[in-house]
Parts: sequence; structure tokens; C-alpha cells
Amino acid sequence: MDTATALAWLRAAAAAVERQHEQLSELDAAIGDGDHGTNLRRGFAAVTEALDKLPAGQSAGAVLSAAGTTLLSKVGGASGPLYGGALRAAGAAFPVPSADLDGLAGALRAGLTKVCQLGGAAPGDKTMVDAFEPAVAALERAAEDGFTLREAAALAAEAAERGARATIPMQARKGRASYLGPRSVGHQDPGATSTALIFRALAEVAR
Ligand code: ADP
Ligand code: MG
Repeated sequence: MDTATALAWLRAAAAAVERQHEQLSELDAAIGDGDHGTNLRRGFAAVTEALDKLPAGQSAGAVLSAAGTTLLSKVGGASGPLYGGALRAAGAAFPVPSADLDGLAGALRAGLTKVCQLGGAAPGDKTMVDAFEPAVAALERAAEDGFTLREAAALAAEAAERGARATIPMQARKGRASYLGPRSVGHQDPGATSTALIFRALAEVAR
């Protein structure tokens, strides 16, 4: 992944959030406080603006880090620090100036590890981790098998979407939804859903 692809990815993610923010907030209204779409919409609009102002010649990792810093400063909910921290950690772990598939998978694994450190969630807790983990694992497998970025990103997006759907029967153990206990069962997690959108955006731009 080079700088142009990283920029295209974040812009495609922002466009997807802009298209689907109402659906994300509806999911959050069912098991949280209904602001997930609004939070991400505000955050990704700010990311788009920040990317427009970035000086030329940045590495792909620096682009991801800048987006993470913007999300951290603009999104108040749980998801802002988690996505912001993930992007900053991925940016810091990113090979300079660009990454092959193995390097991208490693950087996103570092981002996922940061989410788990910050939020204390593990797979099965009904959070964004349930989409993020299978997506990173799919990238890692695809790298081992010698797939192209385009093929790998499609597999990662499918894995994230399956992971998001798999949160429906789960009972939330982290975040606001955990306050509902068993009443959180039967609803798709909003953060896992937005993670799937972000990996689908990668699949859209990957060449
Ligand atoms: P808030 O819960 O503060 O209103 P958002 O609505 O923006 O924040 O985001 C909610 C999403 O954040 C959840 O659907 C879940 O996927 C994710 N989330 C919340 N807490 C955690 C956590 N501790 N670890 C991982 N993800 C979490
Ligand atoms: Mg919320």
C-alpha cells in the first residue's frame, strides 16, 4: 500500500460512513446511545479535511497516523479513541514509505492489538474486535498464500462482514451495550458494522 492508496482508502471509508451513518446510529440506538453514526460522520469528515491539508510527500503510514490523530481529537465516544488509536498504531508500525501485503497485515495487526489494549475486549465480546480480528487474519492468510492486495482486501472485507453479522447472537461484554446484559442479544454491534464498512472501503480502492 502506497500513499495514494492509503489516501484513497480513508476517503472511501469517509464516503461510506457518510452514506451509512443513519444505519450505524440506528444499530447503536438499539443497544447503546444512538450516536455511533454521528460520531464517525463527524470524525471522518474531519479526517477528509485533514488529509486535504497534509503536505505532499507523506508516507502511507504518516497518512494513517494523521487520520488517527484527527479521529482521537474529534470523536468523543468510545469508538473515537479506539479507531484513532488503531490508526495511529498502524501508522507507526507501517513500513516506510509503503507496504506490501505482509507489511499492511502487520501494521493492521498492530492497530488491532492497540484496540484490545485500550478497550480490553477480546473476540466474542460483541465489539468492533469481532470484525477487525477476522479481517486482519484474512489479510495475514492472504499474504502467506501470495495473494494480491486487491484479492486480500476482498477476503478481508468478507471476513469483517461475516464477523459483524456474527455479533447478532452475542451478549455484549464491553462498552455501553454490556449494560443491557442479555438484552443486547439479537442486535448487530454498531462498531463491528463500521469496521466492516472500513474494510469494504479498502476492497473498493485496492488495485
Ligand atoms: P459510545 O459507546 O461511547 O457511544 P460509539 O457509539 O461511537 O461510542 O461506539 C460504540 C461501539 O464502540 C460499539 O458498538 C463497539 O463496537 C465499540 N466499543 C465500545 N467499547 C469497546 C471496547 N471496550 N473495546 C472495543 N470496542 C468497543
Ligand atoms: Mg454510542
